[in-house]
Amino acid sequence: MAAVVEELRDSLTGDVLVEGDREYERSRLCFNLLIDRRPAVIARCIDLDDVAAALAFGQARGLAIAVRGGGHNPAGHCAVDDGLVIDLSRMRDVRVDPEKRIAISQGGATWLDLDAATQAHGLVTPGGVVGSTGVTGLTLGGGIGHLTAQYGLTCDNLFAAELVTPAGEIVRASNDQNSELLWGLRGGGGNFGVVAQAEFRLHPLERVVGGRLEYEGERVATALRLVRELVIDCPRELSIQAQLTTDVSLAPQLVVVPCYTGESEDPEVLRPLRTVPGLVNDGVRRQAFLEQQRIFDPGYGVDRNYWKGHFVAELPDRLIDDLIGRMTALGRPPGGILIESLHGAPKDVDPASAALGYRDAAFNVSAMASWTDPAHDEESIDWARTTASTIEPWSVSGGYANYMQADEPIDRVRAAFGPDSFPRLQALKSRYDPGNVLHRNQNIPPAS
Ligand SMILES: Cc1cc2nc3c(=O)[nH]c(=O)nc-3n(C[C@H](O)[C@H](O)[C@H](O)COP(=O)(O)OP(=O)(O)OC[C@H]3O[C@@H](n4cnc5c(N)ncnc54)[C@H](O)[C@@H]3O)c2cc1C
Repeated sequence: MAAVVEELRDSLTGDVLVEGDREYERSRLCFNLLIDRRPAVIARCIDLDDVAAALAFGQARGLAIAVRGGGHNPAGHCAVDDGLVIDLSRMRDVRVDPEKRIAISQGGATWLDLDAATQAHGLVTPGGVVGSTGVTGLTLGGGIGHLTAQYGLTCDNLFAAELVTPAGEIVRASNDQNSELLWGLRGGGGNFGVVAQAEFRLHPLERVVGGRLEYEGERVATALRLVRELVIDCPRELSIQAQLTTDVSLAPQLVVVPCYTGESEDPEVLRPLRTVPGLVNDGVRRQAFLEQQRIFDPGYGVDRNYWKGHFVAELPDRLIDDLIGRMTALGRPPGGILIESLHGAPKDVDPASAALGYRDAAFNVSAMASWTDPAHDEESIDWARTTASTIEPWSVSGGYANYMQADEPIDRVRAAFGPDSFPRLQALKSRYDPGNVLHRNQNIPPAS
């Protein structure tokens, strides 16, 4: 292998890591500590040519190939035992054109990279809520965050991309060139090539009214019902997420995170949530958007994670009560249940513009088991699966590809795109990756 790795080193401008190299251990790790894989070689690319060379090398040597952006996918698709990782963590440059209100982001940029670059000009594109998540990886699955109601899904703001196909071809996707591919990149994942550059529309925004509202005890159910009522006809200026957790004594807790971008310093729409009994901490205030982006800030490679959920058409009382009941079912804090509202701008967009099939859903509800002790693996995974089956009766459009584990059956992947989109995605796969070289993802097999 050593001679072969030298050959790769010679053909890259970036660097190559193998077992024993100082940075290998850190670079093989994902966000999810449940994933513990040892790649044969990690190619840290710095440009399109490097990506093409790495793709050619991996195929010529018959290595399984994984693509790594920000390393956050809970399924651990970015790492592969004994294979090749095309690591984009040295491709994180973000260029902003404030006049045109666009950002051009390299394939390995994180949300912190992109937000810092765009906020320097008082601009923003709607992204993920954790700064270390990969911009491209998140966009390829849709993208839900603090500005979804205002500006839509992240992929709705993607207007062009440049990628390297497994055959080494450099392809641009936009409304004018390869528009079917642009459609596929809006939700279809990393199935068609390695995206070296993603281009986003930007919107003016500097400050928001946001932060955490924390509730405890029996009033958690009331607060969650209020969130549900609020989004039915709330203004576009308000995005909202909620997370059920527990304290160590297993008393239920709810964290509601609003993000309001209207004029008011004290938005009337938030008053019911800020006055309801059971509120134990009101951290909502006017703050810079970059502060809002730090509300959820988990450590990288710290916890073991297993996530499973469903998009739902509604959040009925029975489901709310069942979800709260699930928080105590394990006999220890199980992690959380995340509820993301999809009201507002995602519904304005022509559904035919993107490959994803969940735009009509009201909420994305995800059981997110997290734990540290490997002895708890089985029961924590079981907790997430059972909690997801509690949500399933209200399911529409399957689950969220960005939160799926690697063990999801093909039917769930298919359902996430919808029956019309899946064959179209398969046709795109046949065109750009007929050998399914890029299969370490929520995989779309080529049309047979
Ligand atoms: C802590 C945390 C917070 C999150 N927050 C949000 C959130 O707020 N909103 C949301 O919608 N999702 C969120 N996610 C989910 C996240 O968007 C997806 O898991 C996404 O796949 C992560 O992308 P990544 O590049 O960080 O991950 P990686 O594991 O590096 O990549 C995942 C896969 O994406 C593909 N990929 C990544 N980059 C490229 C590229 N340049 N070219 C081609 N394919 C590529 C590859 O198939 C790769 O295997 C979060 C996940 C975590 C762990």
